[in-house]
This record gives sequence, structure tokens and C-alpha cells, in this order.
Amino acid sequence: MKSWKKTAEVAIIGGGIMGVSAAYYLAKRGVSDVVVLEKDLLAQASTGLSVGGFRQQFSNPANIRLSQESVRVYERFEEEFGADIEFRQVGYIFLTQKEETWNDFLSDVETQRKHNVPVEVLSPEELKKRWPYLNVDDLKGGTFGPKDGCADPYLAAMGFANSARKLGVRIEEQTKVTGISIEGGRVQGVETAKGPISAPAVVNVAGPWGGEVARMAGLDLPVKPYRRQVFVTKSFDAIPKPIPMVIDQDVTFYFCGYEPGIIMGMSDPNEPSSFNLNTDRDFLEKVVEAAVRRAPILKKARILRGWGGLYTITPDDNPIIGEATGFKGLFAAIGFSGHGFQQAPAVGLILSQLILDGHTDFNLKPFSYDRFEKKEKEGEKRVV
Ligand SMILES: Cc1cc2nc3c(=O)[nH]c(=O)nc-3n(C[C@H](O)[C@H](O)[C@H](O)COP(=O)(O)OP(=O)(O)OC[C@H]3O[C@@H](n4cnc5c(N)ncnc54)[C@H](O)[C@@H]3O)c2cc1C
Repeated sequence: MKSWKKTAEVAIIGGGIMGVSAAYYLAKRGVSDVVVLEKDLLAQASTGLSVGGFRQQFSNPANIRLSQESVRVYERFEEEFGADIEFRQVGYIFLTQKEETWNDFLSDVETQRKHNVPVEVLSPEELKKRWPYLNVDDLKGGTFGPKDGCADPYLAAMGFANSARKLGVRIEEQTKVTGISIEGGRVQGVETAKGPISAPAVVNVAGPWGGEVARMAGLDLPVKPYRRQVFVTKSFDAIPKPIPMVIDQDVTFYFCGYEPGIIMGMSDPNEPSSFNLNTDRDFLEKVVEAAVRRAPILKKARILRGWGGLYTITPDDNPIIGEATGFKGLFAAIGFSGHGFQQAPAVGLILSQLILDGHTDFNLKPFSYDRFEKKEKEGEKRVV
């Protein structure tokens, strides 16, 4: 049995994509005495259950930057990490029927273009010409981001983890963190099911359990887990490939190509906060209804399987990133809704900068701990 090392420079709680990305960027800067503590196995929680979409079409410039920097990393992932993550830049189409949302789209496009995001504004006729399988009769229009797309989140997490290990990072699977010790407003380390580890920096990247882990330090953060269900069809070739990510913003229904079939999902506004991972038949029927309304040809598709995964949600749909006020050395990056996979490379880099340099040039104001009490919140509108 390997001996238990009781110290680390940085202890990371959670072996999802955020945890392994942070570990990699710390080790890349020469800090190899990093331990990733994962209660189960790497990337089996939200990361492994994610759809793997990435986009730069956000309303908040801070989110645009997180995604832009991350997409750059995913674009050359194979070169840097030696891992094929099935990167497909197939594009994202956002659609709406509502005048008010259409106006929001147009103002978001202005913001996106100001930040050099390539995005096209398309009328219903133009949408129909390019993607004839879409029903556009009820639409105001759509926006298309040609540099958006999909990749495999599990393979990406493994790419980060393997490169981090090569740089000396320890990854302890099946090691649950049970406590965080704080003395005099400073983090001292963590308690785990296998023994304590003293560390001057501790990072909470526990995804859906982020609120629970924060409470171990006495912090009450407004982050909660919510089930999201997705379904995959049997092989389906009635739609010509490549199939972009199509998002029906008004009902939050989405679908895209998922070889050899199609993947689709939708948010349920009545879903309570829970750790439930089941799928349910009634909800599947609603998803199929939304699918057939937007792309009638999907009537011919047959559902093969489905699963439930957890989004981690804050009241303004933006994550919490940074060092906790009054808790020196205690960092977090939690609450990424449905866009944590695509932002993980930038967030890992940011965590390494905050821990090693004490600052970053990314704008973290919309992601601060104390924003929830303030009036001027900068939430994210493009959430699916
Ligand atoms: C159905 C679905 C579809 C999605 N689609 C997309 C998408 O298209 N694009 C996108 O960008 N994002 C998407 N997401 C969101 C994305 O998956 C998450 O934002 C991202 O994976 C979060 O990564 P994470 O590392 O923070 O969390 P996780 O992957 O959940 O990792 C957290 C880890 O912490 C561990 N942990 C928790 N508590 C402890 C403890 N006490 N001790 C030790 N370990 C602990 C857990 O076991 C877990 O492995 C989707 C999510 C779902 C559920």
C-alpha cells in the first residue's frame, strides 16, 4: 500500500474537469506538490455526463473571455496534451420566436463582435436555406457561431489529468474530503477519509457538492445541484452532417450530432434541487415533442438511451470563482450551470494565477462571492 503523504502545497477537492485543469496549470508553473482528492473516480460526475458543447455566444463579456481562452486550448489540445478529444467545430445556432429575446440576441451579438467573436445574424429564410430540416415558421431569427462546437469532456479531463500526473501531481481517487480546517482566518488543510493533509491552499472544485464542501469551512454559498436529462437516438442519417448544436432558447431545447445518432436535452423549469440522476418517461415525451416541433424529421429518430446529470446553479447563473473573503488560502470555482466543460481550461489557469500570483487579468467581478448581496449583478442570459 502506498504511504499517505500528509502535506501538499495545494489540495484540490474534486477530480472533475475543473480540478484536473487547475492541477495541470499549477504543475505547469512548477508547483508539482499538488494533490487532487476525488471521492469517486475522475470525471464521472457532471464532467462525464456532460454533452460537451462549447460556444462563445454569451451575453456577459467575462463569460465570452473564459470561453474564448478555453476554446483556444481545446483547438490545440492534441498538440499540447497528446490526446484526441473529438473536437468538432460544427457551430451553434441560437433560435428564438420572441421579440424581446430577439432584441437580446441582437444586443448580445454587438457585445460578442466587440470581443472578436465570429457570429452571424440570420433571418428565418436564411436559416431554412442552410439547415432545411429546421422548422422556422414561428421564428424571429437566429444567430450562428461557426467557431462553436462539441468535444468529449471525459477525454479532455483525462488529457489534463495524465499531463498533470506526468508533471508530478498526485491524484487520489476514492478519497473523500470530510473537513476543511481553518485557523485565524487562514486555511490549514483538509481532513479526508484516508487521513489529514495540511496545505496552505485548498481549492473547492467539487461541482454539485460545492455548497456542501464550502459548508465544511463554515461558508454558506448559494450554489445548488439540479438534474438535467439528456437522450441519445439510435444511428440517424436523415439529417446531413455536420449537425450543429441547435438551441431553441425559448424552451431551452437543444440537439446536435452525436455519432452515430443525435443527442438532445432540455431544462425543466419545475425541477427541484436534488442529486437525482434518474431519467423519466414523461419528461422524455416533452423533449421529443420539442424536438419534432423544431426539426420535424426527428420524428423518424428512435431513442436509444438517456441519462441524468447535475448542473450546479447560482441565483444569477454565473459561477463563483476566487479566494473566499476572510478565508485566506481557500479558493473555489463552482456553479457553472451548463458551461463548465467549455470554461475549464481558462478557469484552471485563473486558479493557478490566483494561488501563485495573488491576481489574474481576467475580470472576476461577475463571479465574486459577495455579489449576491449587491444590486448591480451581471448575470448570464444565455443559459440552456
Ligand atoms: C446533462 C449535462 C449536460 C452538460 N452539457 C454541457 C455542455 O454542453 N457544455 C459545457 O461546457 N458544460 C456542460 N455541462 C456542465 C458541465 O458538465 C459542468 O459545468 C462541468 O463538468 C463541471 O465540472 P466540475 O469539475 O466543476 O464538476 P464535476 O465534474 O461534477 O466534478 C466535481 C468532482 O468533485 C468530487 N467531489 C465532490 N465532493 C467531494 C468530496 N467531499 N471529496 C472529494 N471529491 C469530491 C465529485 O465526485 C466530482 O467528481 C453539462 C452538464 C450536464 C449535467
